[in-house]
Amino acid sequence: MSVGSSGTVPVLVLKEGTGRTTGREAQRNNIMAAKIVAETVKTTLGPRGMDKMLVSSIGDVAITNDGATIMKELDVQHPAAKMLVEVAKAQDNEVGDGTTTAVVLAGELLAKAESLLERNIHPTVIIDGYKKASEKAQDVLDSLAIPVTMNDDRRLMEVAITSMGSKGITVAKEHFAKLAVEAVRQVAEEKDGKIKADIDLIKVLKKHGKSLEETELVKGMVIDKEIASPQMPKIIDGAKIALLNAKLEIKKTEFDAKINIESPEQMKLFLDEEERMLREMVDKIIEVGANVVLCEKGIDDVAVHFLAKRGIMAVKSLSSSDMEKLARATGGKVMASIKDLTADVLGKAKRVEEVKIGDDKLVYVRECKNPKAVTVVIRGGTDHVIDEAERSLHDGLSVVRNAIEDGKIVAGGGAPEAEVAAQLRDYAVMVGGREQLAVEAFADAVEAIPLTLAENSGLDPIDIMVALRSKHEKAENKHQGIEVFSGEIKDMLELKVVEPLRVKLQVVKSATEAANMILKIDDLIASKGGGKMPPMPQGMPPGAGGMGGMGGMGGMPPY
Ligand code: ADP
Ligand code: MG
Repeated sequence: MSVGSSGTVPVLVLKEGTGRTTGREAQRNNIMAAKIVAETVKTTLGPRGMDKMLVSSIGDVAITNDGATIMKELDVQHPAAKMLVEVAKAQDNEVGDGTTTAVVLAGELLAKAESLLERNIHPTVIIDGYKKASEKAQDVLDSLAIPVTMNDDRRLMEVAITSMGSKGITVAKEHFAKLAVEAVRQVAEEKDGKIKADIDLIKVLKKHGKSLEETELVKGMVIDKEIASPQMPKIIDGAKIALLNAKLEIKKTEFDAKINIESPEQMKLFLDEEERMLREMVDKIIEVGANVVLCEKGIDDVAVHFLAKRGIMAVKSLSSSDMEKLARATGGKVMASIKDLTADVLGKAKRVEEVKIGDDKLVYVRECKNPKAVTVVIRGGTDHVIDEAERSLHDGLSVVRNAIEDGKIVAGGGAPEAEVAAQLRDYAVMVGGREQLAVEAFADAVEAIPLTLAENSGLDPIDIMVALRSKHEKAENKHQGIEVFSGEIKDMLELKVVEPLRVKLQVVKSATEAANMILKIDDLIASKGGGKMPPMPQGMPPGAGGMGGMGGMGGMPPY
């Protein structure tokens, strides 16, 4: 590729076939791609947003309203569009909710930046202005927050309901919200005056059948395995559980060994010896008082037989993550050797039982005393319903965790965004100069959230925005947002639409970072091996931004 010439001889700097766009062209290209991705998820925002049907390349269908899932399934190829996918992923990992909002905001920031670029404002000025605006927006959000405590059932429920309200489980959202609050509170722990709630300690199990309302929180663990033998008891009350990470088998030698047996007596002695060793292991288990054995490794058939004979229930080949959670749930300790087993390392549960659900058998370790790991068993009529319920529950658990850990929540329904926009416009005047324009652009971009909420609810966005802005002229109206069903502007705290502060802060942070990163690029160099030059996504209908397996942006011919 010739990228310059000296006299008549072209100077070859980059390899033949390398694609390159520079300057405004590169910026326009990137912004366009990012905007298309944002447009794709925009219609799903809010409780009245629409759903997307995603078809994967192998024909799997998922119906979802979840921004993170949609973005994950989008098979985008354009590098700038990929960055927005990253925003969604980061948002989902960090705070578990607000993914659509973050992507929409990033798209809007870029759209507003484009008009500034057209007015010959340098990208660096925009980037600096956006950074200042982002800091200010976070301060404003923080000032809008109201406190919430771990025992504030009502508020925590509201946080969970708001986050799950837009997903496909509307019928059971109260029930799910209650489960989410109870589950997170159960695993929360106070350390050095700070509350920490690790939601990975909440195991979520999906089982086809019944309905969402029958989804259950088990104060203990549910193991997706059956008990080792039908001869064993199916229910043990007052369970004392040996948690083992050791084989209940005779050790096999690492190398090939030959045992010469010359007579039937010797054969019998050999087998008796094996049996004796296994019996010893079982005796040890009985001696320490265990009546349930949960084992990460295998259990020899002979040992199973002995255990069954002594009325002990056993489950083998558990996953290590289940073992870890079982220890936390039952207060027991996972032992790597049977010899070290003692009475005080046994876990406790009021009941351990095998339960048949549909064709599957599961082992429930129930009613543990103050368990530090719990299980939610999701039930539902179809796989699509269960999958969407799982995604909603993930959002619900995340927001309750955020609220409990930070102790701060803000109003939803576009209220904080409207207030941030109003205060940013005042702040812009103080910033002055050309950056003022960028801060104002940031304010406009933030307003896209209430605007989109209104649009998705079938309301007139202009009327709503005029009403919302005029309300936010007065400080006492700072929690006023959109009642999406009537279209009235109301106090969102009174309407019980609340979100964790952490979600809103992360939205501003990650959207600004992504937008600024894209704005900083003025050169797009695609090497030949790395695929074709990203195509200019112009002319693609918004909303068709490349569903997984449907060709996507990469299917467009290069320009
Ligand atoms: P995200 O992926 O960004 O979380 P959602 O589809 O969950 O997107 O929509 C979240 C937005 O919907 C938030 O701005 C939230 O305040 C708003 N919202 C949720 N429930 C209501 C409600 N009942 N009334 C008004 N706004 C709501
Ligand atoms: Mg949400």
